[in-house]
Amino acid sequence: MSPAQLLEGLLRGNAAVQRRAMAKAITLLESTRADHRALADELLTAMLPHTGNAFRLGISGVPGVGKSTFIEALGLYLIGQGHRVAVLAVDPSSTVSGGSILGDKTRMELLSVHERAYIRPSPSSGTLGGVAEKTRESMLVCEAAGYDVVIVETVGVGQSETAVANMTDMFVLMQLPNAGDDLQAIKKGVMEIADLVVINKADIDAIAATRAQLQITSALQLLGMHGGSGHAHADDTLWHPKVVQLSALLGQGVDTFWTAVSEFKGLQTRNGRLASRRQHQALSWMWERIDAGLKQAFRAQSCVQTLLPQLSQQVATGQLAASTAARQLLGAYQVQG
Ligand code: GDP
Repeated sequence: MSPAQLLEGLLRGNAAVQRRAMAKAITLLESTRADHRALADELLTAMLPHTGNAFRLGISGVPGVGKSTFIEALGLYLIGQGHRVAVLAVDPSSTVSGGSILGDKTRMELLSVHERAYIRPSPSSGTLGGVAEKTRESMLVCEAAGYDVVIVETVGVGQSETAVANMTDMFVLMQLPNAGDDLQAIKKGVMEIADLVVINKADIDAIAATRAQLQITSALQLLGMHGGSGHAHADDTLWHPKVVQLSALLGQGVDTFWTAVSEFKGLQTRNGRLASRRQHQALSWMWERIDAGLKQAFRAQSCVQTLLPQLSQQVATGQLAASTAARQLLGAYQVQG
């Protein structure tokens, strides 16, 4: 199928045609073949005017916190409200081992078979940057196909969380009721990028959940997040991260969660931050890809390949300063360039 036919299928196909077009479009975008890449770029350019209409929600948390249980409950709730929901994943383990933390087990059993939902597992190989980029492009496919809520899931590993926060409008961190005690997320710096913190499994221990909610709320206030001023109460045109508790298993609190998301969306639309965040994201993705492309070109060049082992060895054994070696390599690269 040509990019034009794929786009036609995405925009106007019946349910079956659209699903097929989505799968084909995503496969094309994920392909690393050079001739596919040219077609993929053509598709992206044609698709772009039809994208951007979804709310993009990032969700993260350690394995077992209840992400798939929650996404299933949320997805079904949103479908009940008339939305169409796509779920994508960035699995950092796949980039290292080819394995999977998020797992392609039978997750989200009800949601995955629903005609108004689309679930796609993480791209399974490449660098984290590459996997994240593929996911970002898949998100555009879902938007062109009319999905108006796109959820991007990842696990609690710092870099993948940053990558997902950088492709979504809102980043949600899921925690267990005892999380307030150790505040791992604060230590890792992940709390700083969370727009909303969810305490899940509140049904197991309501007292612990409420305590965690209070602790994390005050931690967020102390850190003075997102406003940058250090005064969380200062400006009510800015969003201040919230903490909600729920039980994904019992489906309790999903509506409260969505109310908070809607408040966030409203505020960020009025104060212009939704648009500026997306602009900033698009430009930083461009630079990320330029960095990655340059590095790849650099490593592929023959004089770099010749010099690299020796200079690396000298840097490793302390005979040559790292910065000197880098300058020599870059110099050689530019001369041959
Ligand atoms: P994930 O690894 O983050 O995707 O977590 P799962 O959604 O697979 O959930 C891990 C386990 O926790 C499963 O056995 C779920 O049934 C259970 N679980 C998820 N949410 C809740 C909840 O709100 N309350 C209770 N009691 N169990 C939950």
